[in-house]
Amino acid sequence: MAHRVTLIPGDGIGPEVAEAARRVVEATGVEINWDVQEAGAAVTRTGGTPLPDRVLRSIETTRTALKGPITTPVGTGFRSVNVALRQELDLFAAVRPAQSLPGIPSRFADVDLVVIRENTEDLYAGIEFMVASNQLARLRELVRDLLGIEIPWDAGATVKPISVTGTRRIVRFAFDFARRNGREKVTVGHKANIMRYSDGLFLFTAAAESASYPDIEFEECQIDELAYRLVVEPETLDVLLLPNLYGDILSDLCAGLVGGLGLAPGANLGWEYAVFEPVHGSAPDIAGKGLANPTAIILSAAMMLDHLGEAEAGRGVRKAVRSALAQGDVRTRDLGGSASTEEMAEAIARATKAALASS
Ligand code: NAD
Repeated sequence: MAHRVTLIPGDGIGPEVAEAARRVVEATGVEINWDVQEAGAAVTRTGGTPLPDRVLRSIETTRTALKGPITTPVGTGFRSVNVALRQELDLFAAVRPAQSLPGIPSRFADVDLVVIRENTEDLYAGIEFMVASNQLARLRELVRDLLGIEIPWDAGATVKPISVTGTRRIVRFAFDFARRNGREKVTVGHKANIMRYSDGLFLFTAAAESASYPDIEFEECQIDELAYRLVVEPETLDVLLLPNLYGDILSDLCAGLVGGLGLAPGANLGWEYAVFEPVHGSAPDIAGKGLANPTAIILSAAMMLDHLGEAEAGRGVRKAVRSALAQGDVRTRDLGGSASTEEMAEAIARATKAALASS
């Protein structure tokens, strides 16, 4: 029976890379009925909102989506569609593998990391106070009364909630993931010495929950030191468990470790729904030029195939990506080549057919 999947092409390079992923998924022979749902800048112009209800309703029906990146304008009143989707669908866990790929030049040869990012809390929860607003004036009074701290009159403010419930579920998710995937260690990144009641809670909850997983090593590391370790000794790390903001930042760092944003896939998972998307954004600098590397969303689609119970197809796509990259004759500009998005997709689609025929 065909799977039903919502396809959100997104903004910028989104439609180009989403089409590439669709082509590769088709090459696996797995039957998918795509429900294409536009969201982002294009629909804002016509419908007034970047995330129309129909997009959420579609994912609630299909339960699974493949998504291209969506632009978030800087400093406007708009909530990020990406953040809104994760919160509305309670996609509390982002899973972002960073693995060295054959023939891709990078500082280290054998990187094999997975970032597990808490996706719904922290500074991304949307609790914001605009500079010079009435709300901020009341917040200043409250903070003065409660803590004797003076927030500067010309400050804006963002609140960082991290809950025991939200932390517990992501910690258990990370340890279960480690166990299921034969991983040995989970490293929690934090700044608990400074943010004692948010990062501190994350760390202590993680430490307590880790006791239920004696087979997986638990390690804690301050976030600045973790960033340093990632760029000098990534081989000492395995699964990284991070609150929302640090997870966002270190996901891009990990993508850089293995050759760039064009190669880094991701999944956003909750108890009920799953949205697969690359780590990268809409890359307006190269949009519409056929320059985007589709590998990240293609690898995201491979994760989606695993999730749909099509593990053989997922393996086939990953094998195809490795063999296409190892051959090295078809590469997009970010990888030092001159192939277009479409040519790269075609090469991976061909390799997918070959990989699945020989398996
Ligand atoms: P970006 O990831 O879009 O681009 C950063 C750099 O990487 C650019 O030079 C870009 O050309 C390059 N790049 C990214 N993806 C590539 C690919 N597939 N192939 C080749 N090169 C690629 O980050 P940005 O410029 O900071 O963000 C642009 C927009 O995307 C912003 O509005 C941001 O909010 C949004 N964004 C969305 C998501 C998402 O939808 N999940 C994630 C990150 C950023």
